Amino acid sequence: MEDRLIQEIKDSNDIVDVISSYIPVIRKGNAVMARCPFHEEKTPSFRINESGQYFKCFGCGKGGNVITFVRDYEHITFMEAVEKLANRAGISISSAPKSKKRSKTELLLNVYQMAKDFFVNNLKFETKVYEYLQKRGLSLETLKKFEIGYALDSFNGLQNYLKRNNINQNILENSGLFGKKNDRLYDIFRNRIMFPIHSLNGKIVAFGGRVLSPDQGGGKYINSPTTDIYHKGDQLYGLHLTKYEISKKKYVLISEGYLDFLRLYENGFTNSVASLGTSLTEKQVKLLSRYTEKFILLYDGDNAGQKAAVRASSIIIKEGYSAEIAVLPSEEDPDSYLIKYGKDDLQKIIDNAVPLIEFVKKDQKQFSSQRQKIEFLMEIVRENSDNLTKDLLIKAISETFRISENSLFSVLKPKNLRMQKQEKLKLKDHSEERTLMEFIINSPNLIKNVAERVKPDYFLNEIYKKLFIELLKITETHKIESVSEWFDLQDVDKKIIDQISEFITDNYGNEIIDEIINSMYIRKIKLDIKNINNKIMLFGDNIEMFKALIKEKEDLKNQLNEIIDSPSTQFIAQRGLNE
Ligand code: ZN
Repeated sequence: MEDRLIQEIKDSNDIVDVISSYIPVIRKGNAVMARCPFHEEKTPSFRINESGQYFKCFGCGKGGNVITFVRDYEHITFMEAVEKLANRAGISISSAPKSKKRSKTELLLNVYQMAKDFFVNNLKFETKVYEYLQKRGLSLETLKKFEIGYALDSFNGLQNYLKRNNINQNILENSGLFGKKNDRLYDIFRNRIMFPIHSLNGKIVAFGGRVLSPDQGGGKYINSPTTDIYHKGDQLYGLHLTKYEISKKKYVLISEGYLDFLRLYENGFTNSVASLGTSLTEKQVKLLSRYTEKFILLYDGDNAGQKAAVRASSIIIKEGYSAEIAVLPSEEDPDSYLIKYGKDDLQKIIDNAVPLIEFVKKDQKQFSSQRQKIEFLMEIVRENSDNLTKDLLIKAISETFRISENSLFSVLKPKNLRMQKQEKLKLKDHSEERTLMEFIINSPNLIKNVAERVKPDYFLNEIYKKLFIELLKITETHKIESVSEWFDLQDVDKKIIDQISEFITDNYGNEIIDEIINSMYIRKIKLDIKNINNKIMLFGDNIEMFKALIKEKEDLKNQLNEIIDSPSTQFIAQRGLNE
């Protein structure tokens, strides 16, 4: 989409109007504030800058413009947010003609919506099923919220209903809702409680069906097969409604089954999802990581459940997130536990969740020896691609099992060890560099000026240095003139945009920027001189080399004197430099 059109859409949607249509805002003089919708807080630290048309939370650091607010609040894509705001302002955005594939998707979604209506309606007339659900303790409100229904005990109940509503044979055959025998279709889901599976934006893409009594044939649960709108392992049950709570509470509670999930939800554990099937997939982990980095697994207490929890944890850790296992008594699942003991006791179980490494250490069933445990954990470390995470994992394994980090490192390739050490250097902070970053991010039109005087290797803090390089790259191809425009960049990694928003502030100083730039420059030259001195010590017996180094050193010293002698920076030199 053209930048001009995006600008027009932004201009037509005042950020205060839009945000206040989602959350209550408070006006105090010129300031517009709110309680941040992206993190849990009691006093408002979320500020809307009306003149700059951007927002920034001083509690969690999140910032953005009107489009990214809608995107992040609704958990939709940038383009979906643009469309939404265009509609709101009555601006038409011409889109490409819809492809055949898309219309097929729409037809399928429509069929699933209709099937859901049919199932929900059935429940009204089947009092025995309704009573069964009530006996299991599910409230009417929950049944409604999750659109739970019932599939008739019939081979063509749904089929007849859809045909009456003019759904053609071809779509029926591709819907995954029917089997085929002797060229005739029959309902797959019969005499089952129906749980619709929703996509992230709340559209029904599949069903899970559960038997009413254990002696009914065909498996306790059956799920829709893969279709054009559903791939097993891509979705998580309940996430379309719980995503906001997950990002607010900063962790997700993962259970295995539909009923576990619903029971948890009814008891106020609204930051939950169910994994739908036995093992958690990488895709599901990635999906959840949009909302949180902390995962707590609340699986069945039996052996199979605990094994599945360990397997799921290892996938979460390989993806770089934190996994803890909450352990139920061996005969319970979350559903039965809540019925027996109630939510306060379950909360205690959750509070006592242990990280995977500790869980493995204590385990007496899945692993036969200490060595097997360590090898299992080191396999996870090896498959992790992030060096900092690797380092942290090794530290934790070392502490938990009382084995030296060195012997654990020796199991890994030597290359990783070196990289891990470098990683540690990153954590040093330099507040003057931070001030400079704040300055350029809040006055992006001045980046070019700063870049003429500051080179990336003037930075000592690796994080600022990397971000500075990214900013230079961005501003080479994009013209950024105001803070709010950072958030229009669709071709830039979201992590970088998040980092940028960390630096947005109303009160950045610009009067000391010259001073900082000079001091970084002087510091850089001094470091270069120090390096040359080291080289002279090493190569001093090579006359040619020695001469060249001395010459280089003299040049640097002259540069240094020039800056120090210039009146504007006199006092910096006197004050000395912190490095
Ligand atoms: Zn916040």
